Amino acid sequence: LVRLRSRLSRSQNALGQGLLTLLSREHLDEDTWEEVEDTLLTADVGVQPTQELVESLRERVKVLGTRTPQELRALLREELLKLVGTDVDRAVRTEPEGRTPGIVMVVGVNGTGKTTTTGKLARVLVADGRTVVLGAADTFRAAAADQLQTWGERVGAHTVRGPEAGDPASVAFDAVKEGKEMGVDVVLIDTAGRLHTKTGLMDELGKVKRVVEKHAPVDEVLLVLDATTGQNGLVQARVFAEVVDISGIVLTKLDGTAKGGIVVAVQRELGVPVKLVGLGEGADDLAPFEPEAFVDALIG
Ligand code: GDP
Repeated sequence: LVRLRSRLSRSQNALGQGLLTLLSREHLDEDTWEEVEDTLLTADVGVQPTQELVESLRERVKVLGTRTPQELRALLREELLKLVGTDVDRAVRTEPEGRTPGIVMVVGVNGTGKTTTTGKLARVLVADGRTVVLGAADTFRAAAADQLQTWGERVGAHTVRGPEAGDPASVAFDAVKEGKEMGVDVVLIDTAGRLHTKTGLMDELGKVKRVVEKHAPVDEVLLVLDATTGQNGLVQARVFAEVVDISGIVLTKLDGTAKGGIVVAVQRELGVPVKLVGLGEGADDLAPFEPEAFVDALIG
């Protein structure tokens, strides 16, 4: 796995550096605090968390009096960590007690990096010595099954696919069935995500989950969000959360944006932790989300 910090630092530290520069000003007047607020909002931290952070920073800076750069950095680090959350279980649940395979559904709007993430996750699991079956339940996008199968061949995982435009739920069902028969450790199911037909999507994802659960409960539902889409991503998140119980978030394309604040905003929105982050298009560019490494990348 790539080191989160080294891959993030280039794109991310605009936010942290910006905040540190502002907080280092000799006089922290109202205008400065407004700039702090704007910096956070521009980075997609979200309105409520921004207000909380600014309030907390104002209080603590006042108590501190004179501020050395080291003190400011430590203070900001602490406050950002609090906002991101350190006492959360961010492990992807792939090992249910007493049975195999673990079942993971990957959901999200097309183009967010769903199929790529499914492939990368398979690679991480295989590298970890686990056996994996991939279910190509995105039967709507013609190339999706091919793309997933290519990943499967690359990482050494069998791919189960159905006829083009076939029933996604039956592909998902068959994937778990084959996974059981083969005795693999984990089944990863890639799903379709066309948001313009919300009712269709609701029906379909709900059905995929119900049908899979004829075998066993789904252990993890990962929602893939593109970090570069900002508020739009939050709207998507809300729609998906209405359809299925999301248990973890994957934020992709964090390598391509300085708006890392979306981590905070989306966790707040869904009450679900960010578990993985996508840091590039390559096979190794998926990393567990580590709050400390993330915040360190922010403040440089
Ligand atoms: P899907 O339609 O949601 O299954 O999306 P894909 O998996 O096909 O990905 C869409 C595009 O995003 C592809 O070109 C991927 O290579 C790219 N992509 C996926 N994840 C990342 C990431 O973390 N960083 C970057 N830079 N690109 C990514």
